[in-house]
Amino acid sequence: MRVYSIPMRTRFRGVTRRDGVLVRGPAGWGEFSPFAEYGPAECARWLAAAREAAFEGWPAPVRDRVPVNATIPAVGPERAFELAKESGCRTAKVKVAERGQSDADDLARVEAVRDALGPDGLVRVDANGAWDVDHAARMIRSLDRWGLEYVEQPCATLAELAAVRRRVDVPVAADESIRRAEDPLKVRAAEAADVAVLKVQPLGGVAAALRVAEACGLPVVVSSAVETSVGLAAGVALAAALPELPYACGLGTLSLLAGDVAADPLWPVAGEIAVRRPEVDEASLARWEAPDAAGWRARALAAQEHLDGPDVIGAAP
Ligand SMILES: [Mg+2]
Repeated sequence: MRVYSIPMRTRFRGVTRRDGVLVRGPAGWGEFSPFAEYGPAECARWLAAAREAAFEGWPAPVRDRVPVNATIPAVGPERAFELAKESGCRTAKVKVAERGQSDADDLARVEAVRDALGPDGLVRVDANGAWDVDHAARMIRSLDRWGLEYVEQPCATLAELAAVRRRVDVPVAADESIRRAEDPLKVRAAEAADVAVLKVQPLGGVAAALRVAEACGLPVVVSSAVETSVGLAAGVALAAALPELPYACGLGTLSLLAGDVAADPLWPVAGEIAVRRPEVDEASLARWEAPDAAGWRARALAAQEHLDGPDVIGAAP
């Protein structure tokens, strides 16, 4: 079990460092990096994903490249333009509704990204559940003057998402509403979204996420939990194994971190990630390896209590 801690280039999801654990098994490396606020029962699914990666491996791919979106944080319009331009991606996801910022900030950022991508680019926005229904409907209509591919999690609850969806023409994607296997079915039943954003770790692995995708019947966007190349490889494996992949995925997130643990990291090239599994490089890992100050071993052990099957973290002395 190896603990890493890598600074974020831009504050994202309120964190300034990304921390987690890498484990190695017969099938390769796995990543266990639940966010700090998650308790043992929730962490058990994240651990199951690491165990699948390290001990079982992943379903066979049906494609060898995965298109990804650029991620534009809540920065000013000039920086947003540069980030979209430099990304080489055809699709950009723009963060909106950031606390402490105004609607005008969001409008300026989305306009800048549209300018950068040109008329053929695809622009989606992500509000991380921050708007109420009226605010969401108003802002989505305003932002759609630059053409939106979809709006991700405009509001927090399924009822609100459903209400927004009835009021706007822009498709709605559910992200935070989907954190466990049964959630996509609830999203669908509530008619709360047109697109499901799935992440491997919270759903308990690639095979589990594939089953969720099949059961919910909505088009899927695979997204990362802002992981190292080890965790990203699992997301790429999911995107590669889905029968249909109509949208660019949120897996081009390595640039949010100041470094990586692989010698040949999972960078997108021209807006696509090749389907492969990078090896952890000891010299790179050594640079980011950290003492277990956050209690990762204890967290993993507590999570493992909720799982059957092999011991992934060496609980036995
Ligand atoms: Mg999101």
